[in-house]
Amino acid sequence: MFSVSLIAVSKILHRNVRKLKIKHKIPNGKIDYSDLNKPGKPFFSKRYRITGKPDYIIKKDKHYIPVEVKTGFHSEPQKNHIFQLAGYCHLLEENYGGFVPFGILVYNNMYQYKIPFNPKVRFEFESTLKNMRHVMKTDRVSRNHSNPNRCKNCSMRSNCNNKLL
Ligand code: SF4
Repeated sequence: MFSVSLIAVSKILHRNVRKLKIKHKIPNGKIDYSDLNKPGKPFFSKRYRITGKPDYIIKKDKHYIPVEVKTGFHSEPQKNHIFQLAGYCHLLEENYGGFVPFGILVYNNMYQYKIPFNPKVRFEFESTLKNMRHVMKTDRVSRNHSNPNRCKNCSMRSNCNNKLL
């Protein structure tokens, strides 16, 4: 009886994972972790002193791949989203070991972009972090956009003196 129940539970879980994958356009591969239905503890990087966790981690051909799901229509991957994804790629490399070849951005559960974690992206990620740290030390941080919607949904909004609206 007990084993029959376990089989039933496992079937339900399998079905739910399949639904989740279809809903969020998750590429093939085993879902190792999902943050959308059950938030997990964030990863930490000793090297860069950053923290975070992607929406999904899938395991594909022995590689861990971060998947970040975004809302809003964009005709191409946004710089800030690529930067965030690069951070997740690094966090997975540092915490799991091994090489993360790319991350995936999904917009509006419809469009999927494979973002390579190549030397160019790694270099840009590292220099952007250095610039951010430098700017934070100088205490002169200015807004780099004029989009009220970005401020509306921003997690830093309550502490930001530059917000729109
Ligand atoms: S609230 Fe501040 S930090 Fe957030 S997007 Fe707007 S200007 Fe940038």
